[in-house]
Amino acid sequence: MQHQPEYMLGVDIGTTSTKAVLFTTQGQVVAQHAVEYPLLCTTPGMAEQDPLQIYDAVLSAIKNAVGNAAAKNGVEAAQIKLVSFSAAMHSVIAVGQDGALLSNSITWGDNRAGAWANRIRDELGGHEIYLRTGTPIHPMSPLCKIMWLRHDQPQLFARTARFVGVKEYVLYRLFGEWLVDHSIASATGMFNLQQLDWDQGALELLGIGPQQLSTLVPTTHQLSGLAPAMAQQLGLAPATPFVIGANDGVLSNLGVNAIGPGQVAVTIGTSGAMRTVIDKPLTDPSGRTFCYALTAKHWVVGGPTNNGGSIFHWVRDELATAEAAAAKAAGLDPYDALTKIAEGVSAGAEGLLFHPYLAGERAPLWNADARGSYFGLATHHGKPHMIRAALEGVIFSLYSILPAVEDLIGPTTHMMATGGFARSPLWRQMMADIFEREVVVPESVESSCLGAAVLGLYALGKVDSLEVIGGMVGSTHRHVPIAENVALYRRLWPIYAAIPKQLEQQYRQLSQFQRETAAAPS
Ligand code: ADP
Repeated sequence: MQHQPEYMLGVDIGTTSTKAVLFTTQGQVVAQHAVEYPLLCTTPGMAEQDPLQIYDAVLSAIKNAVGNAAAKNGVEAAQIKLVSFSAAMHSVIAVGQDGALLSNSITWGDNRAGAWANRIRDELGGHEIYLRTGTPIHPMSPLCKIMWLRHDQPQLFARTARFVGVKEYVLYRLFGEWLVDHSIASATGMFNLQQLDWDQGALELLGIGPQQLSTLVPTTHQLSGLAPAMAQQLGLAPATPFVIGANDGVLSNLGVNAIGPGQVAVTIGTSGAMRTVIDKPLTDPSGRTFCYALTAKHWVVGGPTNNGGSIFHWVRDELATAEAAAAKAAGLDPYDALTKIAEGVSAGAEGLLFHPYLAGERAPLWNADARGSYFGLATHHGKPHMIRAALEGVIFSLYSILPAVEDLIGPTTHMMATGGFARSPLWRQMMADIFEREVVVPESVESSCLGAAVLGLYALGKVDSLEVIGGMVGSTHRHVPIAENVALYRRLWPIYAAIPKQLEQQYRQLSQFQRETAAAPS
């Protein structure tokens, strides 16, 4: 009998879209589909999404990816051996007794819990909660958001039967149970990493019980109970195994094959992050890093930055507007054109430094009040220097997370770089020069979807280790440090690193001034 190829579907419920990617069980992409949804930001600090739109997007992404594979490649439903999920972290939705939505999904980018994050950190034992739960005390975390809801929206809080995340909501709609995987739970600030259970102290602080949160299950948990009519609507066989999966950050590490000792994945998309995998949960006595679950034997330690590709976006739209428009008019990608301009300036931008904290900063400062700055401006600097310094500043900022990670886990050796920034050869080279190590860019696939699919294979016992990923991910670029650039960056680094440490008070004063004087969003 002829051997039928087998396929796996990874679904990533992200902040801007849900993506579904159908892979062969060897990791080749066969078909994919993405459905976008808007972020709702009508009051200052707000960043919400409509859970109903996201649920519809998940159905539509799966249905279209499967449909495309059937139409183009003749893939039959029975050949799809699993569906497994990735999702964005830190979302909170209030739901009623009957599962009715009482709020939108409050996403990781929502800052309205900022004052409560400060109080929890400074007065309410936040550091101890972080040490037990692995999620830094920050307005992104569900811990801080639920505290904010309790005090700022007491009527909503009182009516809420459960606080859930967006993946829990989608899975409840599909499978009828409120379940949360250890990975999403480990990013709530309420999950005790040692006990693998909800943290009693965190729940007491919030005045909620475990029955108001979802039931905890490992990331390898299989879901059952999908209605046959829904399977048919999605184009899947009714018996298709579904695996709950993990969060998008840890699955991205798996998806780029950065799960071995000493391997670090650095992502610069809109925001950015540095992550590495270890075999047990670990938190930082100085509170600089997160620790999130991938499986019982794989834990991801690292730090996120608010300011990644968004900085280049700001340079394109606010600083180098004329240059970007000229590039566009000439049919060029504005980012490529601005990269060319930055190339005209030597490494170190002739002594101009840029701190990219336009959106405050998470790791390693964890200071929502931090603000951006050009430092060292002199008459010999022009716009090309400012563009180059901005790109360098993003890399310096990510580099500043490395000591925190290495203090915890020891030296790192290999670096994989991912995200939109990797389209720029100059920016990739800056990473090799500032980090002083070889930078490898894995083949560009939806890494969180691939990670989810491979975790699914592992969960179903089709492979006995996550290491199979090694055979699925190739590399597209390699950069080695250039000695003369390294020498320049080494001289600038201590100056760069000293500045945010000295400006804490001024950051606070200036951000307060900005909050008082900035026009409210229309
Ligand atoms: P997301 O995090 O939303 O998935 P991406 O990974 O696509 O986003 O990254 C988007 C960012 O990638 C942009 O903000 C920009 O900074 C950067 N980028 C996109 N194209 C280029 C390019 N040609 N050169 C350099 N950077 C680029």
